[in-house]
Amino acid sequence: MTCLTEPLGITVLGSGSHGNALLIHCGGAGILVDAGFSLKELRRRLQAAGLPESMIRGIIVTHEHNDHISGLRVCANHFQVPVYMTRKCADVLRHRDADLGQLSLFAPGGAFSISSFDIEPFSIPHDANDPVAFVVHCGPCKIGVVTDLGYAGSTVEYQLRQCNTIVLESNHDLNLLAASKRPWPLKQRIMGRHGHLSNDACVELLQRVVDSCTRNIILAHLSQECNRPDIVEKTARRGLAKIARPDIELTIAAQDHPSTTVWNHF
Ligand SMILES: [Zn+2]
Ligand SMILES: [Zn+2]
Repeated sequence: MTCLTEPLGITVLGSGSHGNALLIHCGGAGILVDAGFSLKELRRRLQAAGLPESMIRGIIVTHEHNDHISGLRVCANHFQVPVYMTRKCADVLRHRDADLGQLSLFAPGGAFSISSFDIEPFSIPHDANDPVAFVVHCGPCKIGVVTDLGYAGSTVEYQLRQCNTIVLESNHDLNLLAASKRPWPLKQRIMGRHGHLSNDACVELLQRVVDSCTRNIILAHLSQECNRPDIVEKTARRGLAKIARPDIELTIAAQDHPSTTVWNHF
């Protein structure tokens, strides 16, 4: 089956500082981006989303923070699929656990393919070892997945143009972060150039990259303490109205349960 006739789905299985995983799938094949849940929890969420685990063809890893890799080794072993990550990320993970299974290394800027998915990794600014985000092409579809970044430079802007679906971090509300009981160094880390994207920064980026190709936006990696879905939605809707794109479908990804699958039809 080819993606020219099959719709391409994106299902966020969960997103936030307690675990991240999403599945991009088309015609019975899928790629998992990050494995930040236990195998048991991941299988439960796949089942809840109506996605057979047999469709997983590979796991691609954004960076080594625990909320993205806590279930990686067990999941890769169970699904018997290769794991894709940068060399620096692999070096850090090998220190913690020598057995990473079937490993395939990529470099930011170096495209690779899994099944009918063509994946372009690119560097993002975050306090990890060689962290990356991805654009994924499948047939005529282009999907961007960008979470865990302190700010959006020109590379991120370039990559997110002409995406049909954009998955983007909308991590914190600046007022809620300032008012939170978090220690000052942690607040500084989150707000810093290698931390996380605020709701305002997320929307400013969207206003720069949304174009005639953009149909769906999934806002992800919301802070549970320093953000609220209603603030995220209101901020994004206001920002999209300002660029005359109220038609864009907006999904706010949750931490505790899978989000409704976003479909791209061609
Ligand atoms: Zn994270
Ligand atoms: Zn991170």
